[in-house]
Amino acid sequence: MIVSMKRYATKAEIETVCERIREFGYKIHAIEGEERVVIGAVGVGDVTNCLESLEALPCVEKAVRISAPYKFVSKEFRSTRTVIRINNGTGLEIGGDEFTVMAGPCSVESEKQLMESAIAVSRAGAKVLRGGAFKPRTSPYDFQGLEEEGLKLLKKAREATGLAIITEVMSDRDVSLIAEYSDIMQVGARNMQNFALLKTLGKCQRPVLLKRGMSSTIKELLMSAEYIVAHGNPNVILCERGIRTFETATRNTCDIAAVPVLNELTQLPVILDPSHATGKRSLVPALSRAGVAIGADGIIVEVHPCPEKAVSDGAQSLHLEEFDRMMNDLRGYIALWKQSRMAEAAMV
Ligand code: PEP
Ligand code: MN
Repeated sequence: MIVSMKRYATKAEIETVCERIREFGYKIHAIEGEERVVIGAVGVGDVTNCLESLEALPCVEKAVRISAPYKFVSKEFRSTRTVIRINNGTGLEIGGDEFTVMAGPCSVESEKQLMESAIAVSRAGAKVLRGGAFKPRTSPYDFQGLEEEGLKLLKKAREATGLAIITEVMSDRDVSLIAEYSDIMQVGARNMQNFALLKTLGKCQRPVLLKRGMSSTIKELLMSAEYIVAHGNPNVILCERGIRTFETATRNTCDIAAVPVLNELTQLPVILDPSHATGKRSLVPALSRAGVAIGADGIIVEVHPCPEKAVSDGAQSLHLEEFDRMMNDLRGYIALWKQSRMAEAAMV
């Protein structure tokens, strides 16, 4: 259930409400807002009586039940977009009125490869540099990533360009190490339901980009996001990266409808990954345009100075010049995207 307090409710009033919620057998999970406090509670109890009893209190504006199984990430809980501030000193926000482009190589391979990529994507207008240092590979014989050495190279690239960093975390044991280097923690498709990892990320305040599992439903994606938020970290960004179907013409099937579906169900930002969704570099510009047009908050794209020599995902990585061209082509679409965001903001 969610309980909205009247404007400027006092600390004592908030505590009285929390006490009453607990008496009915519910657990307080989040208290949000400064001017107007909203209390979230979950559990099993006498919901009708609890809501009635809370609404009878003069300091309570409204108490409602959340019907979705995911509570804190549902639109019933939050009526405005979740804008996620990235703490890299540039004022970067995801989910607000700027379309965010994240780009970089699939894997961090060397200082030269990463720096060339970082400089090129930054010049082209990306704001976040991606690059895997811990790689989830299907074969144990494939390149597994440079690990901490890769994280150090990402830090160097961040210092040189001012780009924020996103890199994958595969295990709960690595969360604190990766949080030292990365502005955004990426949870890969293969770990979307690694609940130990999700819980640990909940205790860390770094923004998390949660990728949809390749065989996961939208509801399961939202339930995984709920794990992170319920454990204390509200800074979750969702990512559609294609799902497994019978189709073999593309590496995965891009579930483009997932973007507006998620926009109907949650206020969390949604990012589209056209690279893993298709597996083919020639398809990435069209899918990126689709992402802008359909109302994603951004895209995450793989690039490489020499994709033919990439240790992972070369076939779907854009050459740096191709990325630059794509960004130029996207400019007009992004301007329209911005107009519609502004119009939406003016309506609320
Ligand atoms: C990646 O971003 O390189 C990656 C492994 O993505 P996914 O988890 O979507 O397969
Ligand atoms: Mn990849």
